Amino acid sequence: MSDLRAVAVWRDGAAVRVPADQPVVTAFDQGLGRGDGVFESVLVTGGHTPHLPPHLTRLARSAALLDLPYPGDDAWRALVDAVLTDWPPAAEGACRLFLTRGLGEGEPPTLVALLAPVPAETLRQRIEGISVVSLGLGIPADFRAKAPWLLGGAKTLSYAVNMAAYRHAHARGADDVVFTALDGELLEGPTSTVVWAADGVLRTPPLETGILAGTTVDRLLARATDDGWAAEVASGTVADLHAADAVWLLSGVRGAATVHTLDGVRWGDAGLSERVRELLAR
Ligand code: PLP
Repeated sequence: MSDLRAVAVWRDGAAVRVPADQPVVTAFDQGLGRGDGVFESVLVTGGHTPHLPPHLTRLARSAALLDLPYPGDDAWRALVDAVLTDWPPAAEGACRLFLTRGLGEGEPPTLVALLAPVPAETLRQRIEGISVVSLGLGIPADFRAKAPWLLGGAKTLSYAVNMAAYRHAHARGADDVVFTALDGELLEGPTSTVVWAADGVLRTPPLETGILAGTTVDRLLARATDDGWAAEVASGTVADLHAADAVWLLSGVRGAATVHTLDGVRWGDAGLSERVRELLAR
């Protein structure tokens, strides 16, 4: 385990840095027992978190979807500052922010921030691209929009299904996953947004499917449009990905990972990945 790890917790109205190997929640925390909480993963680069604001906006939205009191952006900024103290600017990091229901109704929520280096495997995938399998989630594409109890669009701590999907992909020799709905409509990756380029247009699935609103895809689509590259939200299928010029899985920490193989079929990226990365880095 890397020595380069930092943890901070919210105690008595202030961010407190604690040793990275010290326990920070009780065994009775609802986040531990029920996965009842929300989180964010924020890229640290050059010693800063340049994309923190949209992550905090989404954290507040996720909290609202779970009826969790949101402590306010200032608390998170203080926690991020606390874990960034002493962080070497040359090291890229993944900063995770956790908000749980704590001991339950009427009790204060638990706030934790932690920072660790971006895993070597993530860095490799950024450069070499990824092999992906499509896996069904078994729900109609329009169902989660009508079923708020399924928490579509919230980044909850209940990621056991997402992690199981990764293990399933790894067992099949792939790196990552694209989830599809019952009718075959594209949804998202377990921790990423799907984007494909076809007919000179960048496309990504609609939020009405209950997928998470990605901060990275937002940034890419806005900058692509400014740059004269048409972008749109559009439904798609795995067949659309196979017919596309290029496909990426996007997330804040990994950036744009080029999909070089989908369900065992290999193809290129038509030289478009460089432009996507340049737009994201701008
Ligand atoms: N979709 C899911 C389910 C995710 O967990 C994530 C990020 O972790 C994303 C999409 C991409 O979001 P972002 O670009 O804000 O990192």
